[in-house]
Amino acid sequence: MRRNFGLLLGLCLALYDCAHSKPKTGGAASSAETRQSERSKVSKARVTPEPSSSLARSSSLGSPLSSGDDSLAGGRGVGLFALRLQLCPRMRVSNAPQVDKNRYVRGFKPFVMVNKKVLLAVVPTTGACLSSGFGRRRNRLHKGVDFQSKPPSLIRAAAGGVIVEAGYRKDYGNYVLIAHGHNIFTRYAHLERLKSEIKTGSKIRRGKALGKMGNTADWKLPIHLHYELLVGDYNTRKKSFGLKPKNIFSYPYSQDFARMKISQ
Ligand SMILES: [Zn+2]
Repeated sequence: MRRNFGLLLGLCLALYDCAHSKPKTGGAASSAETRQSERSKVSKARVTPEPSSSLARSSSLGSPLSSGDDSLAGGRGVGLFALRLQLCPRMRVSNAPQVDKNRYVRGFKPFVMVNKKVLLAVVPTTGACLSSGFGRRRNRLHKGVDFQSKPPSLIRAAAGGVIVEAGYRKDYGNYVLIAHGHNIFTRYAHLERLKSEIKTGSKIRRGKALGKMGNTADWKLPIHLHYELLVGDYNTRKKSFGLKPKNIFSYPYSQDFARMKISQ
């Protein structure tokens, strides 16, 4: 198994601009900073109005995508995502999954199948550690999972789809929302900047780079990715903020991924 991982790592280094698939040690911020920043984010999120200009037309968002997403089936793209996940060192990680003595997540699922329809990468980058899990945190719901890496890593689309929001909010900073069909969405927040081709309405393939991990928001944050899995009907008054956040770790391991015999 380690040999397979090594081969994959070599392929990754040769073909792509990822650093490696093994999470690094070295978190970017103290837990105190994280607590402060997340508190600010949540409190501002409650009062910040939704942007209207960056929201896309959305008449077909709930239907299956017509374009084939074959990037994973062909084996391409797998090296763009982490195959192991470690808690960030020296941090108290809220809602952390079970880990081994080296703080690696036990039974980590690099890809999951959501509602039997969409295969998603659980860590949409490489070289990152988990700095916060999904769930209640300081009496509020943390609606996604947070990852940190040093240096900041490229964030990639966790699955193919259509970009339905790409812009800036005070609380989410530079962010992207992708519709994967079947009322399943992913959101990527606090990016340093969005790549020029990342535009509302564009189709996007799994593994496409969105931009680097950053700390954009209207207040100080540690550099990290806030990553959300959202389900529901986009076509309501609240648009993406009416969708239901879900814990990506709670979904089953993808059998499609298992068939590729890439494991560790
Ligand atoms: Zn977060």
